[in-house]
Amino acid sequence: MLVLVINSGSSSLKYQVRETGTDEILLAGLVERIGGPEVPDHAAALETVQEHLHGVLGERQIEAVGHRVVHGGERFAEPVLITHEIVRAIERLAPLAPLHNPAAALGIRALLEKWPKLPQVAVFDTAFHRTMPEYAWRYAVPDDLYKRHGVRRYGFHGTSHDYVAGKAAELLGIERQRFRAVIAHLGNGASITAIRQGKSIDTSMGYTPLEGLVMGTRSGDLDASIVTQLVIRGEYTAEQMDHILNQDSGLKGLSGENDMRSVVETASQGDDGAELALEVAAYRLQKYIGGYHVAVGGAQAIVFTAGIGENGWLFRQRVVGGLGALGVKLDEMSNVERSKQPRVISAPESAIPVLVVPTDEESEIAAQTAALATAQQ
Ligand code: ADP
Repeated sequence: MLVLVINSGSSSLKYQVRETGTDEILLAGLVERIGGPEVPDHAAALETVQEHLHGVLGERQIEAVGHRVVHGGERFAEPVLITHEIVRAIERLAPLAPLHNPAAALGIRALLEKWPKLPQVAVFDTAFHRTMPEYAWRYAVPDDLYKRHGVRRYGFHGTSHDYVAGKAAELLGIERQRFRAVIAHLGNGASITAIRQGKSIDTSMGYTPLEGLVMGTRSGDLDASIVTQLVIRGEYTAEQMDHILNQDSGLKGLSGENDMRSVVETASQGDDGAELALEVAAYRLQKYIGGYHVAVGGAQAIVFTAGIGENGWLFRQRVVGGLGALGVKLDEMSNVERSKQPRVISAPESAIPVLVVPTDEESEIAAQTAALATAQQ
């Protein structure tokens, strides 16, 4: 099936056309500066997409559209066929994802208007984590915060963790329903997921993507009193703290650089801040891997994915080097090898196989969209 995959941001729209039968990418593109003079809104962005589609596909028609939606709240545990009611539900979740959900809704509305007959599917970043048990998603705070304000752990990057879990199980020849693994998605944003019986049972991002691992510009875990104390003392406003923790922290906070390649490069030239950033990020990740290994009842695989996970061999070496207590050992040659294929990078005697599995969220969105659109026919 020919599926258009859309990832709408507030000022940009990323798209791909995939043939789901062969998993082929027919075209990919990005419309930027939406809201500017040339592309006033998402409807105008779609005009640009349509021209590109027509130029490449000719008379072939798109059969379904899959939208990436960041937040599905507690309602959405699966992809859904989009109706006007679903768009309103996505908009109602805006307080939980103020930058993302309204943008996704704008893209969906523009498409509903333009191609009302085309099946459209919403695929949620949070959905894969809806299988977490309550003891993993609850914060130990008064019930009221959960019941009245939805304060709980949701988790993100679900589409990626789902896809990578499937590929890793396949590579190892383990049935997905029996698969136990720890999956580290390390991009600009980073999260790690505990997989048991092929499902997510815990993940490091929480109420928002701020929680968990040290990221490019996000702090990850910290003591919430840091925020309350600094705000109470009048040192910063709540908005400033939000900005500091999401935009100026993580690798950037410790080293001045948010891009892992630059951090590694600067550390190799002897920069103390960059070296510390790598140490803190690796140590935090090691703690999560150890914890999730216990949570899943003994992982059958430790899997690295996304920009840093797939390409950052020095960072993988540093992280796995600290997992000696688990009996994990890298094969140094396989670790430095460059490949776009899923592969094992641990030594044969490693107690747990270590894998690199390239993620492909668009492929997963296209596949889920096609499955739902076919079921509706
Ligand atoms: P996003 O979350 O924006 O999708 P990506 O998955 O593309 O991010 O990951 C971006 C991160 O991957 C950046 O920190 C970048 O430095 C890092 N990265 C890309 N290539 C390499 C590499 N060869 N070595 C180390 N890090 C890399």
